[in-house]
Amino acid sequence: MTLHARVLQCILEEPGTSKQRLCRRFDLNRYRLRRVFQKIDEGLSGRSLVQDDLNGVWIVAMDPEKCAGTIWLGGDEGGYVQCSGPREFADGRCYDHSGWENPEMIAFERRLRWVAGPCEASARVLAQLTMTVLEDLAETLSAVNPVTFRQLQEKKRLAGMLRSAMAFVRWKQRARPSASGSWIPPEFAERLRRSSGNTFEFAVKQHFLVLEVTSDAGRDEVVKAWRKLARRYHPDAEGGDEERMKLINLAKDRIFLIRGWD
Ligand SMILES: [Zn+2]
Repeated sequence: MTLHARVLQCILEEPGTSKQRLCRRFDLNRYRLRRVFQKIDEGLSGRSLVQDDLNGVWIVAMDPEKCAGTIWLGGDEGGYVQCSGPREFADGRCYDHSGWENPEMIAFERRLRWVAGPCEASARVLAQLTMTVLEDLAETLSAVNPVTFRQLQEKKRLAGMLRSAMAFVRWKQRARPSASGSWIPPEFAERLRRSSGNTFEFAVKQHFLVLEVTSDAGRDEVVKAWRKLARRYHPDAEGGDEERMKLINLAKDRIFLIRGWD
């Protein structure tokens, strides 16, 4: 008797056996168990293998005229049955169970991947984009017409993500650097607002801007900038400014701390 036949027999005799238990019983790792499941699936005409981490592994008899989705019935002592819904979509499932994708949704997701770059799209990643791009994405999404339940859920999730990203961008535009704000040259301040993705980075960049250098400046450049400004704003110098001198010193100290220079 082959391995997959023995595993199949075990599932039929004890419906709801967990994957861990099958692994132990047949001395398989997760990867090999998956291969065995594939083998079982190929031979299951008219039946379907249901794997659920919570409720174990089940074999369910399927009526080809009905939806190919399955439903958990009953509480702890329950079992899986075939959904009695109609086969509405190309994947042979009903509105609730279909994973069928409509072209509009595929096009939107492709666009989202493209603007998110190499990162997984999230509110934080999308908050790096400009408001115009985000508004455009939101408009495109609102035109997507969800056909299945999953698409409806996905549309809600994506819309929520875009809303959060837009709220974050708005917050960044409003958030003025508090204490040192007035010392930041306007052209830098604008660039800072547009480029800062998160609050920590935002705080770090402020210190560099106080010294009027970019945040990729090296140790020597920072020291040089600090010396130049210290000469200009030293309280003993003509046109000196004690408050500003404090900020300049603080910025230098913080940058050294953050960068680990000594
Ligand atoms: Zn169904």
